[in-house]
Amino acid sequence: MRITAIESSVVALPFSMGGPHPLFAGQPWDRLEILLVRVETEEGLVGWGEAFGHAAIPATKAALDTIVAPLVVGRDARDINAITRQVLHGVHLLGRNGPFVYAFSGIEIALWDLLGKRSGQPLWRLLSGSAPDPAGLDAYASLLSYGGDLELVARNTADARAQGYRHVKLHELTREAVLAAKAAAPDAAIMLDVNCAWTPPVARDMAASLARDGLAWLEEPVWPPEDSAGLASLRRFGIPLTAGENTAGLFGFRALMEAGAIDIAQPSVTKLGGIGEMLQVIALARAHGVEVVPHCPYFGPGFVATVHIAAAQVERPLIEVLWLEMEANPFDPWVRVRDGKVEVPTAPGLGCDPDPAVLARYRRAAPTRIEARRAA
Ligand SMILES: [Mg+2]
Repeated sequence: MRITAIESSVVALPFSMGGPHPLFAGQPWDRLEILLVRVETEEGLVGWGEAFGHAAIPATKAALDTIVAPLVVGRDARDINAITRQVLHGVHLLGRNGPFVYAFSGIEIALWDLLGKRSGQPLWRLLSGSAPDPAGLDAYASLLSYGGDLELVARNTADARAQGYRHVKLHELTREAVLAAKAAAPDAAIMLDVNCAWTPPVARDMAASLARDGLAWLEEPVWPPEDSAGLASLRRFGIPLTAGENTAGLFGFRALMEAGAIDIAQPSVTKLGGIGEMLQVIALARAHGVEVVPHCPYFGPGFVATVHIAAAQVERPLIEVLWLEMEANPFDPWVRVRDGKVEVPTAPGLGCDPDPAVLARYRRAAPTRIEARRAA
């Protein structure tokens, strides 16, 4: 199953989010972008992947087109472990957590899609899962930041609950926001994600003030994210702690778990090296008695891969879904939530090939194509 070509392209989807659009890494954020990876084999099979993401897309795409895809074309698409080892070793001097690993993650997801298509099995089956509940997996609404606007926090929390979500996560920085959300949806579980806003002493004060508010979890309270001892110092306040979206691979997670820093691990399949690395993190979490709730605020094959992995490998799946409304998405309906649930595809591979008309309509530019050299 020789890989003959790898294409990358960016799809940009207009969206609304129940409030003003925020900045993301200093850039205006008014389009959801997907960095799509398409891998072709000599027998004409096509696999789809997604690489992280958001404001990192131009950097990830450059890493993919210039370094990572050329290392993978010409290889046998079934050799996922060997390709992973060789590519990640080949680029390790360029960064163990960032565009090169994100780029490889997108290709690796596409290789699993190909493996499933070639064997006629959905990804959850390849991962030893049982047939998923047709009702789907529980999803949680991941609200974007409303910049401390309590009225918007309350309104969007209530709307998410009314649409069937039983779990709502805030990207805010204050206890007042948590109380506003709880008042707006008293029977919902509320989570708070502060994206590493606080040094450990400030985080401990905040955790003390939040300790009796019944938060389902407090996410990434400590700056910098690799300060596992600082994070572990918050465990005594009794709020479940989560982290992992900025953690580099298996060994990054090992450091977090050995420090006793987290109750819930949040590996991100488009960031940490793909499905194989994610499976190792899940096994490690199992050995440490740590739950897994994947990080997946994305909108294409990476999201769908996360749904398959969670269905097959996670005891209590809970899928992160950004609280916003997309005008359209080439991966519909697999990236949509109905009554707080996400359906698991049953067709081979990821089971979510994109709609070509929607792709063509929202693509930013023609794909960049890297082809294998023909055998002499
Ligand atoms: Mg987060």
